[in-house]
Amino acid sequence: MNNLEGGSEVLVIGSFMMDLVFKSSRAPKDGETVIGESFKRYPGGKGANQAVAAQQLGASVTMAGKLGADLYGEEILKVLHQKQINTGKIIIDSNETTGVASINVDAKGNNRITIVPGANHAFTENDLLKIKNMLFKHKVLVLQMELNLNVTFKAVELAHEVGIPVILNPAPAAIIPEKVLSKITYLTPNESEVELLTGLKIFDIEDAYQAGEILINKGVKNVIITLGSKGAVIVNEELKEFVPGFKVKAIDTVAAGDTFNGALAMKISKEIELEKCVQFANASAALSVTKDGAIPSIPTESEVQNFLL
Ligand code: ATP
Repeated sequence: MNNLEGGSEVLVIGSFMMDLVFKSSRAPKDGETVIGESFKRYPGGKGANQAVAAQQLGASVTMAGKLGADLYGEEILKVLHQKQINTGKIIIDSNETTGVASINVDAKGNNRITIVPGANHAFTENDLLKIKNMLFKHKVLVLQMELNLNVTFKAVELAHEVGIPVILNPAPAAIIPEKVLSKITYLTPNESEVELLTGLKIFDIEDAYQAGEILINKGVKNVIITLGSKGAVIVNEELKEFVPGFKVKAIDTVAAGDTFNGALAMKISKEIELEKCVQFANASAALSVTKDGAIPSIPTESEVQNFLL
């Protein structure tokens, strides 16, 4: 177990979720019970996935957030400890259940998902303020939008106040107020998220540049739009650049975005030039789609280095 007192390169403030995956030939109708074929449990949540990605790809990582005092919470903590993530700022709330997602998959691969955020939504601004004093010890703060939005937006403000760069992965998609946008160092939407944020549909790279420009005009410092297998574009005051993805045999794209963001955070924490950070993030995320699952699909730093040789 790693219990560094703050000071790790990357701080992730985010969500934990236990994915409960039921496979059955078809989904039950109202009032019906069907006998399924298999059941699996996968620890994750965007926050935890991105923390694991950043750590496994070469950064030291602290994660903050909230778990319930239950078996799923214990299991998630165990995974984070195995990955050497500093868990000292994770709160265990005995009044809440750990976030869960019930995922029903039928024979055609169609999903029906119910999410109960539980403890994730019980992480309050007050909880955030308790770690305000340690923010400056980190090289970069990583956020997603699975916690309450007011908490996430407050975290952006605090990071800005303290002067540390912040990566906001705006997933799941939601509107972000302009006063928050203007304090974001790196915003990393995918195509549908950027459409919600700008009203622009992304058909090609020119559209992505245009969407990026809209967000830059609202004060975001750097916009990095992920474009699935195509790769990503970077837009900021100085440049508009397409960084191509890597050709791989895709098996399962779950957590491609999380791997991308974790990899990006790792490189940014080492103060590497942005284009190189995005290249590395594309390579890491490409490797993640060649394997099943979320956390089990995240590559290690040496796997990515070998892939890039
Ligand atoms: P997800 O929700 O599946 O985790 P996302 O929608 O957040 O992903 P995407 O834009 O689909 O984000 O993918 C993120 C990054 O993952 C891409 O920028 C790219 O680098 C990589 N990627 C995704 N799909 C593929 C693929 N089929 N082949 C190679 N790289 C991929």
